[in-house]
Formats: sequence, structure tokens, C-alpha cells
Amino acid sequence: MKERVEMREGRSMILDAVSVMDTETIDLLEATGRVLAEDIYAQENIPPFSRSPLDGYVLRAQDIKEASKENPVTLPILEEVAAGQVATQPVTKGTAIKILTGAPIPEGADLVVKFEDTEFTSEQVTFFAPGKSGDNIVPVGEDLKVGQLVLKKGQKITAPVRGILAGLGKSRLKVYKKVHVKLISTGSELVPIDAPLTPGKIRNSSVYTLASYLQEAGASVTICPNVEDTVEAISDAVKAAQTDADVIMTTGGVSVGDYDHLKTVMTSLGADVLFWKMRLKPGAAFLASVYNGIPVLSLSGNPASAAISMLLTCVPAIRKMSGYSEYMLREIDGILETDFTKKSPNGRMVPGKLFIKDQKPMIWLSGHSGNGMLHPLEGCNIIGELAPSKEGVKAGSVVHAYDIGEFI
Ligand code: AMP
Ligand code: MG
Repeated sequence: MKERVEMREGRSMILDAVSVMDTETIDLLEATGRVLAEDIYAQENIPPFSRSPLDGYVLRAQDIKEASKENPVTLPILEEVAAGQVATQPVTKGTAIKILTGAPIPEGADLVVKFEDTEFTSEQVTFFAPGKSGDNIVPVGEDLKVGQLVLKKGQKITAPVRGILAGLGKSRLKVYKKVHVKLISTGSELVPIDAPLTPGKIRNSSVYTLASYLQEAGASVTICPNVEDTVEAISDAVKAAQTDADVIMTTGGVSVGDYDHLKTVMTSLGADVLFWKMRLKPGAAFLASVYNGIPVLSLSGNPASAAISMLLTCVPAIRKMSGYSEYMLREIDGILETDFTKKSPNGRMVPGKLFIKDQKPMIWLSGHSGNGMLHPLEGCNIIGELAPSKEGVKAGSVVHAYDIGEFI
């Protein structure tokens, strides 16, 4: 077992301990937020035929190449074609067909002129200017062409992805199964959120934040009952959580206090303990183990420590398991907007906001944050990483950050 590993090393060890979930086939209707487990090639062109993007007349450009205000050209109208219909005849030399938005371009024609630029009766239409071959024609396959790789395995199914799949007639698709995370909160001080607060007790707030971040990352979450700080109770809870769990997460009891039993429990259960504690502030209290093949990620009880260490080191692993091809948090540099006065002799992770000002990426860091405080995370879309320093960080300095925007 390693002790006091760097955050990046801890993250790698957790990533190495997990594997990608099996796949399942589901309805497109259920697919939002899931991860594609197959490459999608277009088997059809979208649009499937060349069409008119407007209401007007379709003809051969050749026939009006001499047209002008002084010498207008008048052509007979053969018929009308509306969306959903197909012309019964081709456009031949010296003729036009009335066409409405979305209708297929009849054979022989290569130009659509909009109503507003013509004069017409029900029998004939007059043009006052020439037009270029291909103008106002949406070509077949403009959006997608047959055989084209459209979507890749490992991509999240977002709103446009779902529409693309629908356009290709994919009503069922292969996705990765959701990662099922079971969350166990340990701590004799914890009471459920709907119970009255008696002296010395606190509400279990942390688990709700963690569960939300995990759900945003694509997991399904079960919140297990709170557990007292005893070796036996924690041990029983971890054993019971094994059923259907892809990952078990615990909070509390991973430090060095008399009631910090997680390490004892995981060791006595025969788990393979990967590491204990990280060089991470907040979030140093951390135990990573693998128990009967299931990763057990034990976070601090302090809500901010738990959330920050989980986002930085566990969420990439959950995303990897979920099948994402890009599972790491994106990293970005921004310019500190206001001085951050707290000193960080060992470095520090601080929740903050990334925004654009005068076309530059700016970062605001929450000056009022602490291990036990959840509210500084509210509205934050990044976690800033401050290098060890005996001083604070001045406005205008470049700050490195991890993007948690997807998880708020
Ligand atoms: P621990 O990691 O068990 O030493 O707990 C650290 C601090 O976090 C203590 O002040 C606990 O009371 C508090 N704490 C532990 N678990 C939770 C929880 N689920 N929700 C909110 N606070 C907690
Ligand atoms: Mg505790």
C-alpha cells in the first residue's frame, strides 16, 4: 500500500483499477446522456434528395441566361410540386415547375428562383434576371453522405446526436451500461436529512452533492443507509453494498482519528488497498481499495474535501467505466481576476468560476472556502490548482484549473 501519493498518481491508480462497462441495446428515446458503444456510419444521405430551400420556380439556368428587366423571359408552368410530393415530369427546355420549400428538385432542372423575384400567373412565370446553375438547391447529402463516419464510439448522446441518429433511422442503439455507484456515509454524528437535529448531530449533506456529481458524470447512484463509526457496522455495510455495485464509495473515517476505521475495515476484509492519503488539499484523507473486484473509493467526511477529491480523481474513472473516449477532466489556464490572499504552502485546490472577459479566459476563486463548507462550490465550473507558495496569488497571475462545468 502506498501512502501520501500525489493527486495525479492517485488518479492513475484508480483509473488503472477500473474497466469499461458491458454494453446494452436501448431505444433512442432513452438515450440522452448515455455513451455510444458503436461507431455510426450514415447508411442514407441526409437530405435523401436534392430539394428546394424556398418557395419559387424551378427551371434550367440555361433558359434565362439572357433575362433582364428590359428583356424578361416568360416560361410556361408545367405543374406544382410541394413538400412530400415528386414532380410527375422532368423540367424540359423552355419550361418551369412551381416548387415549394422541401420539395424534391425535378429532373432536368438546376436552378430555383424565389417567388419574390418573378411575376407569375397560374399558367406562366416571368424572370427578370439570370441565375447560376445550382442556386437555391440543397444538394442530396448536404448534411450527411452515405458511408460517412458520423458519430464515434465513446461519444455522449447529446441533443444534436440524438437528432442525427433519428435522421438516420436508428431507433435502437448500442450504449455502455451505466456505472452503478453505491454511496455509504459513515459517521455516528450523521442523521438523515428529514430527521430532527439533536445535540451533536449533523445532517448528511455531503452524500447529496456527491450523488449529483456522479449522476452528471453518467452513473446511477444508490444512497445506502448511514453507518455508525464502528468497525463492525462499516464492515457489514461494505459487504452488503457489493451486490450490484460497480463502484462503492464511502465518506468519513479515513483519517487518523480513533474512530477512523475505514483502513482497518478494508484491510480486514482482505481488500487490495491501493493507497492511503493524497498530497491534496482539501481531500488528503482518501483510501482507495479493490474489494472482490469492486473499486472502493473512500473519501473524507468533510463535504468539500470529499467533493473535490472525488471530482479530481474518481470522476475520470467513472467516465472511463461509462465508456467515454475522453474521460479526463479538461484542463485550462485562466487569468486570476481578483487577488487570492490565502497562503498555500502545500498547494491548494480552490473552487472557482471560469468566464470570458475582453475575450480572455478569466478565473475567479472562492476566497471563502474550507474543507467542511459546501456552499463555496455552488455555481463553480472549475477547480483552480494553486502551486505551493508562501504568499497568496495576485490578480493577473495565470491559474491552472480543472473543468467541472459538465458536473454543475
Ligand atoms: P471524518 O472524515 O469522518 O473525520 O469527518 C470530517 C468532518 O466531516 C467531521 O466534522 C464530520 O462531522 C463531517 N462529516 C462527515 N460525514 C459527513 C457527511 N456525510 N455530511 C456532512 N458532514 C460530514
Ligand atoms: Mg468521522
